[in-house]
Amino acid sequence: MRRLDSIRQIYYRGLLRSCNYTCSYCPFGRKSPSGPTSRDEQAWRRFVAAMAAWRSPVRLFLIPYGEALVHAYYREGIAQLSTLPHVRGVGCQTNLSYPAQAWLEELRQSGAEVGKIHLWASFHPEMTSVRRFVDQLHRLHEAGLQVCAGAVGKPDHLALLQELRDSLSPDIYLFVNAMQGLKRGYTAEETLAFSSIDNLFAYDVQNAAADWEHCMGRSESCFVDGWGNVRACPRSRTVLGNLYGGLSLEEVPCTNRRCDCYIAFSNLIRHPLRQVMGGGMLWRTPEKMPVSAVFFDVDGTLTGADGRVLDSYAEALRWLSRRVPLYLATSLTEDLARRRLGHSLFVLFRGGIFADGASLRGEGWSECLPLLPLSLPQPLDRMVKVTAHQDALGHPYKYSLLPDSREEIAPLLEWLGTQPYRVSRNRRLITLIHPQAGKKEGFLRFCARLGLPTGRVLAVGNEISDADMLACTPFSCAVLTADEALKQRVRYVLNPDRLAAFFHFSK
Ligand code: SF4
Ligand code: SF4
Repeated sequence: MRRLDSIRQIYYRGLLRSCNYTCSYCPFGRKSPSGPTSRDEQAWRRFVAAMAAWRSPVRLFLIPYGEALVHAYYREGIAQLSTLPHVRGVGCQTNLSYPAQAWLEELRQSGAEVGKIHLWASFHPEMTSVRRFVDQLHRLHEAGLQVCAGAVGKPDHLALLQELRDSLSPDIYLFVNAMQGLKRGYTAEETLAFSSIDNLFAYDVQNAAADWEHCMGRSESCFVDGWGNVRACPRSRTVLGNLYGGLSLEEVPCTNRRCDCYIAFSNLIRHPLRQVMGGGMLWRTPEKMPVSAVFFDVDGTLTGADGRVLDSYAEALRWLSRRVPLYLATSLTEDLARRRLGHSLFVLFRGGIFADGASLRGEGWSECLPLLPLSLPQPLDRMVKVTAHQDALGHPYKYSLLPDSREEIAPLLEWLGTQPYRVSRNRRLITLIHPQAGKKEGFLRFCARLGLPTGRVLAVGNEISDADMLACTPFSCAVLTADEALKQRVRYVLNPDRLAAFFHFSK
């Protein structure tokens, strides 16, 4: 037996079986008999009373069959629950049809604590327009409610969901649910397209194997229905006890083989999404961690395979630069980084770490790790083109060596092995920097010089060589196209144009 009072989060689904929308694929639309809601109201009020009497911190999430917020008793109950100190948050799935302005006025009059209300707002293209949905959500978001938006990943709706993503404020997370009724797998192109809208889409496609040993269900989390029956999660069929019938829960294992949707697998304590969503995991509203500087690698992170910056990334950089200082952390020299990004994007950055940490530049200052003069032995001196990259004072901090042919590479590398340089090679191009230079070392020197606490820095890269630098901050991030080995080592896998939904940026 387990004690019910160890529970810290509760999903609730009452007796409601009706909706004001009539989505063609849903049994709860107006076409189905809606029936009276008085029994549902009674059940909800009983639940609210039980939560008011709950003795420990708890987070609540309403997941109705149908639309709850069109009923005054649900809105009143949510407002009441939000005012209770031990209720750390109360969320609801909704189609967002109830007029936002009217609800905000009700919340104001009832003294609700709106920052504790979370909305999982589902977009139903058959029933509403992108414009109306976005307008409703923005009003609630701007009023301080915690919101996310979601839609089903129907391939036919790809353009519409892209329009929805483009219309939503970038700091609102839009998730795409894998389509249950799709009688085929997604094509690679569809997966790519939906993943660019929702960088976490792959988790929803995969779902997760049921893992009862590492499931929060029955110990910290449970699902309660309109009769008070308690289950480990909304997807489990096994009844463990009753909320109104005692304080103990049976220790009966869940028999499901898969945690087959977000609401299930979000209960798995080892799921990688827990690190991404933080305290908003329950409601799918990412907990936005505070970040006061962002570092971006360039090649492969901000630029694609064609060497260009996507329009959506450029837009995101402009949005971010108005909120938080941006810096580069790249193996390129500053000149080359400027050329890669183009002047209009380059000036959004206040400096950075260049040439793999051999050269640092901030606002009004620069420093480098100068190299000893390079003097190639004969006959290599005639067969290798050498370019010296210098700082403003003429100190060389990087040499680029380009042998005339592949035959010179081996003897050149052999000779360089005896010299005081850090050597790296990309095909025929060989670069030399100071032996103590490195992205990680440069990053730490840079942060120390600016007084930036690394605990509030977000760093984004794409190659495994970025891993040591990224490990210096709790907010390590790889782009979706990054080396798989890097993705395994970072906390976030997000593209530059989706960062805004997961962090709180402030200078
Ligand atoms: S809004 Fe949701 S509950 Fe209502 S009919 Fe559509 S899918 Fe069903
Ligand atoms: S289906 Fe639910 S109860 Fe079963 S393991 Fe998954 S999350 Fe836990």
